[in-house]
Amino acid sequence: MNDIIVAISTALGKGAISIVRLSGEGCIQLVNKCFKGKDLTTVDSHTINFGYILDNDEVIDQVLVSVMKAPKTYTREDVVEINCHGGVAATNKILETMILNGARIAEPGEFTKRAFLNGRIDLVEAEAVMDLVNSKTEKARVQSINQLEGKLTKVIRDFRQKLLELLANIEVNIDYPEYEDIEVVTIDNIRDRVDEMQKSLTEIIKESETRKIIKEGINVAIVGKPNVGKSSILNRLLGENKAIVTEIAGTTRDIVEGSITLNGIALNFIDTAGIRDTSDIVEQVGVEKSFEQISKADLVILVLNNNEELTSEDVALIEKVKTKKYITVINKKDLDKKIDISSLELNNVIYTDTVSEEGIDSLKNKIIELFNLDEIDNNDIEIFTNARQITLAKESLRVLSDVKKGIEDNVPVDMVGIDIKRIWTLLGEILGETYSDELIDQLFSQFCLGK
Ligand code: GDP
Repeated sequence: MNDIIVAISTALGKGAISIVRLSGEGCIQLVNKCFKGKDLTTVDSHTINFGYILDNDEVIDQVLVSVMKAPKTYTREDVVEINCHGGVAATNKILETMILNGARIAEPGEFTKRAFLNGRIDLVEAEAVMDLVNSKTEKARVQSINQLEGKLTKVIRDFRQKLLELLANIEVNIDYPEYEDIEVVTIDNIRDRVDEMQKSLTEIIKESETRKIIKEGINVAIVGKPNVGKSSILNRLLGENKAIVTEIAGTTRDIVEGSITLNGIALNFIDTAGIRDTSDIVEQVGVEKSFEQISKADLVILVLNNNEELTSEDVALIEKVKTKKYITVINKKDLDKKIDISSLELNNVIYTDTVSEEGIDSLKNKIIELFNLDEIDNNDIEIFTNARQITLAKESLRVLSDVKKGIEDNVPVDMVGIDIKRIWTLLGEILGETYSDELIDQLFSQFCLGK
């Protein structure tokens, strides 16, 4: 049985309304103890009730209390939401009162975790909730809501259904070996189905990897020697949003200098080597730091100075960026040309002048072209949206090719059946049908409090 959890579900700060949410058996009785108004234990489910939250006899706030009885709730448990006035003091005091009366503060994502553990949503849908909360662009939002509505879940369920049919076929084959043609039929059938599944799974994985940028955006590093014009280019790209320093959550917690949206995709300019350093130390740390940025970036904008001959530092950077998707920007086009790049094989060369802004649009267009941003959502197939899902899907694909190879090598059909069962299990793991506690804890801890 689950204990009663409580959290402030809205962002804490000054606002019109805040919501303190509780879930777990007995939470209606708990709130009722501190509530002046109707008897909440006898009201209908899914009603909103006006009244007061009390701390002993003292009124904390005037509130509206939503009472939702299990099982038709977010967590499938009894849920109470207290809508109070959105001041920090009132909200905190209500939270405190709930804790004093026996509730426990919820861990991040614990409401959604309960929704999953109680079977209301699968893991793919739970991840969609988190993605939806974190969506920064319209495209990311649409992708998450589709997933939350179960579209990806349906695709995976269909796959698993097909696998079960194959397994049933194999069972028949094993049970009735006296029918000679059954084995031939079974093998032909498996081969066709496997081909079909391999094709569609490959397509979904490929599309998932391309569209990863809808959710995560593109991490761009602008690198180059000091004074070539990196911050000028960044500021031109950012337009009005002058180099704002923010942090994004992630495994590495990269510093983002600023973001823009290009064709609905976020471009995150990650901490750009040299920009914030002052000149004297840059000479030593500049290149090293640039290397680090380059390795983290999805796209590197390498800036060179039109008005200066190439140096060994430039050449070192050029060699490094060649392992990445990159654009070569030759800046200070307005000044005399001293650079000579004829001996170098550079990709995507664009000349810019940040004073007149010449070349900035070409630079943006080049990014659109390099990442196919014009076409990115024309294809409406469902996709896997995170590394966990993609890894399991790739493993399924690998076992699928084992199945195919097994068929070619005339492996007994029951052996092929073992691999098919394995794929069925792997796809089930995507939905969270089998899971480890560790995975679940790790996954839900990424949620925000109160979700
Ligand atoms: P960073 O050190 O690479 O970030 O370079 P900055 O953006 O700070 O620019 C260094 C200097 O070059 C500044 O004085 C800029 O005004 C100047 N600068 C930047 N871009 C251009 C350009 O396209 N043409 C000219 N003439 N000067 C530029």
